[in-house]
Parts: sequence; C-alpha cells; structure tokens
Amino acid sequence: MSGKVYLVGGGPGDPELLTLKAHRILTQADVVLYDRLVGDQIVALIPDNAEALYVGKAKSKHSLPQEDINKLLCEKAAEGKCVVRLKGGDPFIFGRGGEEIEELVDAGVEFEVIPGVTAAAGCAAYAGIPLTHRDYAQSVRFVTGHLKDGSTDLPWNELVHPAQTLVIYMGLTGLAETAEKLVAHGMNKDIPVAVVEKGTTLSQRVFTSNICEINQVVIENEVKSPSLLIIGDVVKLQTRLSWFKP
Ligand code: SAH
Repeated sequence: MSGKVYLVGGGPGDPELLTLKAHRILTQADVVLYDRLVGDQIVALIPDNAEALYVGKAKSKHSLPQEDINKLLCEKAAEGKCVVRLKGGDPFIFGRGGEEIEELVDAGVEFEVIPGVTAAAGCAAYAGIPLTHRDYAQSVRFVTGHLKDGSTDLPWNELVHPAQTLVIYMGLTGLAETAEKLVAHGMNKDIPVAVVEKGTTLSQRVFTSNICEINQVVIENEVKSPSLLIIGDVVKLQTRLSWFKP
C-alpha cells in the first residue's frame, strides 16, 4: 500500500496556532521532516514512535538540498508511511511548498496540503499591528526580501503606494538596501516600520522606527532571524494595540 504525504503549515511559533487538522495529522505521523523555522514546542508534539528528520534550511547553508527533501518524501511515501512535511507558517507563502508537491505529482504520490498561520498574520496579531485598517491601509502586500540569486531586486515602484502595508519576509539581511531603494522610489522618510523578531513565541521582540532609521535599530538591538518587517502607517497603532507580553 502506498503512503501519503501531508504538507503541513506549522504556523509562526506559538504551538496553539497549529490548526486542529495540523495537530491531528502530526500526532498520527510515521515520519516527520521539519525545518529550522518550526519551533521547539511544535517539534515536541512529534510522536515518540515517529521518525523525526531535521532537514535544516538555515539561510545559505541548507542542511539538506531541496532535491533530496523531495526525493525523501517520495521514498518514505512509497514505503507506505504517513509522511508529514512540516513547515513554518503556511506552506504556500514563501515556503517552497509548491515545488515539493510538483515532485509528488510527478511521482504519483498522494498528498494533502494543510494551510498554516503565515508569519505576517501571526506577527501582526501578536505585535498589535492590524495589516489593514480603514484609516490607514486598504491593501497589504507580502514580498520576499531575499530572491533566489541572493539579490533584492523588487518592483520598487509598486511597493511605494499610498494606503498599502508592506510585509517583507526574509528582509533582515537586505534591509539597508531595501530601505534605501524604497526612499529613492519616493517612500515617505517618516513612514513607520516595525520589525518583529520570533513573532508569537515567548522570545518575541518588536522594534519600531522609521524607514531611514530601522536598520540602525536592528543593528543596535542585534535583531536575528526569523524576523518580519512591516512597513506602513498601520504601524502607528502598535503601541496602543499591543497586548502580547512574552
Ligand atoms: N512559510 C513561512 C515563511 C517562510 S520564509 C510563513 O508562511 O510564515 C521565512 C521568513 O518568514 C523569515 O525569514 C521571516 O521573515 C518570516 N518568519 C517566519 N516565522 C517568523 C516568526 N515567528 N517571526 C518573525 N518572522 C517570521
């Protein structure tokens, strides 16, 4: 009998943000492949009798190349196992989930995709920053600050837009350049920016500043990955609406 692969979104960190479905499937797994973004408390939910495989993915030093992960998923499913590919946040938002299931489709392996709370939703909620708000932002845009070739070549003109919140995933390394480019393309120098480090976890830290000074704030406070950047007037609400006291 052939097994099945579940591509599961583990959410941004707080284990209680796992969906009931993610939790049920995780606790029934025979094999779990998880990466760096999956928090310890979620890893602790992997059943003792399941094979738990850390497949890494610290930026630029992938501990297991993507092709090997794809191959492993197919092999374990072929052994008839219930295989969980556990990812941080949502598998289809900057999670390469699409690439992994393409391979499964090609190999004829049965699969399901379980969505998760993406970092933008989790960090915004736990930091007290509504991503949209009738007075400040009518749209929100998720972008990655880290492209496949390591550059940060984004459609800058589209990113500088009134009443739009910009959420940048993987934006820490390229932050100085990103901020400079946004200002050069007309972004208001006073636009507020928040950086949320390890959002939704007990180690969460939130720093706010403006687009010109945020990089300095990040350096001074030794902000580390995973961190999410939220740019836009909605950040003005942060002090008033923050509730999570880790
Ligand atoms: N699929 C994931 C995103 C993977 S890309 C999702 O939907 O959330 C990895 C980036 O996500 C990190 O570099 C960081 O920008 C962001 N991220 C993930 N978890 C985070 C967390 N708990 N706090 C802050 N940023 C986080």
